[in-house]
Amino acid sequence: MQSQFCPNCRTVANMIETVTRRAIAGHDGKMDMITIKTYHCESCRSFVSSKEEGPRFVPENSQNGKRSQHPTLLDW
Ligand SMILES: [Zn+2]
Repeated sequence: MQSQFCPNCRTVANMIETVTRRAIAGHDGKMDMITIKTYHCESCRSFVSSKEEGPRFVPENSQNGKRSQHPTLLDW
């Protein structure tokens, strides 16, 4: 059980964790699943915080030193 400061109760309270999974359009058009964790205060049930967890977008060629896939401002 997580504890966080609840601005409504003005004290540290136990949090109810709600986990939502959502598909988002990823870096190259593929769908990626992210996990959204939402925390509500156990005492007053008000929303306290949320955070997203998901795959980090690591390009497949990132270790080959290829950095020219995105045009820079100098390409104007
Ligand atoms: Zn509260």
